[in-house]
Amino acid sequence: MSYPVVLIPGDGVGPEVTEAARQIVDATGVSIAWKIHYAGGEAVERFGQPLPEETLSAISAAGTALKGPLATASGTGFRSVNVEIRKRLDLYANFRPARSMDGIRSRYADVDVIVIRENTEGLYSGLEHEVVPGVVESLRIVTKRASERIARFAFETARKYGREKVTCVHKANILKLSDGLFLDTARRIAGEFSDIAFDDCIVDAAAMKLVIDPTQFDVLVMENLFGDILSDLCSGLVGGLGVTPSANIGLDAAVFEAVHGTAPDIAGQQLANPTALVLSAALMLRHLGEADAAERVETAVRRVIADGEWLTVDLGGTASTSDFTEAVIEQLDVVPSVASN
Ligand code: ATP
Repeated sequence: MSYPVVLIPGDGVGPEVTEAARQIVDATGVSIAWKIHYAGGEAVERFGQPLPEETLSAISAAGTALKGPLATASGTGFRSVNVEIRKRLDLYANFRPARSMDGIRSRYADVDVIVIRENTEGLYSGLEHEVVPGVVESLRIVTKRASERIARFAFETARKYGREKVTCVHKANILKLSDGLFLDTARRIAGEFSDIAFDDCIVDAAAMKLVIDPTQFDVLVMENLFGDILSDLCSGLVGGLGVTPSANIGLDAAVFEAVHGTAPDIAGQQLANPTALVLSAALMLRHLGEADAAERVETAVRRVIADGEWLTVDLGGTASTSDFTEAVIEQLDVVPSVASN
């Protein structure tokens, strides 16, 4: 049996990093029926629009997509094609694990946190208007329904990944109604998961504590804008956006993507580091139920980076995108199969 997966090559370095991820996934032996569809600048060139309906329906039909970074051209009517994909497919949960890697210089050696961000509301509701000239208002929406499902997702993720604690990050001391609802809901849902500890932390304190000692956190759940900021902070704690995987998950579909941009300055030169997308592809394998293959990919990437012989230019090496890819594939064969959660 093959898993259907939509592959969106994306723009800039997208085709190079998606090709690397595809080759590595195929080398695990998991059978994927890749279906190529387009979004972003490439879709504008081919179809005159950045997010063709056929791409969205292909993702809905397959249920899973692996996506390269997308350029959002101005004048296309979207603030961001990425945000539009999340909205149209109701990918309500953003999942960003941040784990230290040997061989990547960063402030700490032992970071291992998962950031879960509510993806559909908060200040990303897109509801803004000018009240009177010189005064604008942006509406920060928090609903019980969205708060419940993201809290439940956080606890289920904690369980799935063998984690011990979920921390709700909020600003309920000031935003008493909106974040009050978010926090109360998380507290109530915590009651359904007696095996996972729960606490909460005000967002500014969470930022400070993450910088001072990130090991005190396990799984963090928060609304959209706080998640946007703290997930990048956590990426920074483990070496930056170039090595951080990401997934956007809904009830009917999941899209796996790197969080870095299209890097037009190095596109087409085999200079891109595909680590972030390859690790996102490992999350995808785990999502498909192929935990063993996911673990092999993650371990192989870690070994290649720790070994240091085949590092790409951004990490201080001279290897090309395909050199790095081949090195990871070689490591897949020496990594023993291990059972994982
Ligand atoms: P966009 O407009 O799509 O956000 P950008 O260039 O403004 O593109 P990024 O794509 O995130 O933003 O790039 C920021 C810097 O990081 C650039 O110098 C780019 O070359 C580098 N960079 C980003 N992704 C990678 C990657 N995968 N490998 C190596 N370098 C990268």
